[in-house]
Amino acid sequence: MPTTTDFERMLRGVSLRVTRPRLAVLSAVHDHPHADTESIIGVVRDNLGEVSHQAVYDVLRALTTAGLLRRIQPPGSVARYESRVGDNHHHVVCRSCGAIADVDCAVGSAPCLTASETHGFTIDEAEVVYWGLCPACSTATRS
Ligand SMILES: [Zn+2]
Ligand SMILES: [Zn+2]
Repeated sequence: MPTTTDFERMLRGVSLRVTRPRLAVLSAVHDHPHADTESIIGVVRDNLGEVSHQAVYDVLRALTTAGLLRRIQPPGSVARYESRVGDNHHHVVCRSCGAIADVDCAVGSAPCLTASETHGFTIDEAEVVYWGLCPACSTATRS
């Protein structure tokens, strides 16, 4: 588990000033992978008291731009954030309840699918989303 000191080091590592909202957002996303903005605001408020939506949006944007957070948005879902950055992992999304889980990349680095035709493009990423039913929803469907 990263500590506050680790989060401070991460912020300094990307030349961002250490502030309480930034620390709170980093730790909220770390504790709740794939959380949406509303849930992150809830967790941050539990820790810091009153914080504006705009402040949390701004911090999420700054941390994502700096590469400390990754923003994902499966089609049909709101934006979600995670602190697992720097690898090429994918996501499996439940069609029924929207639950998201990490799936390690089978190849390990992007692009992990070879395009049958590049059209002259230099391709650096293949975005893979696996869709299906989570265990809870498949159980519910069967009964
Ligand atoms: Zn589900
Ligand atoms: Zn993930």
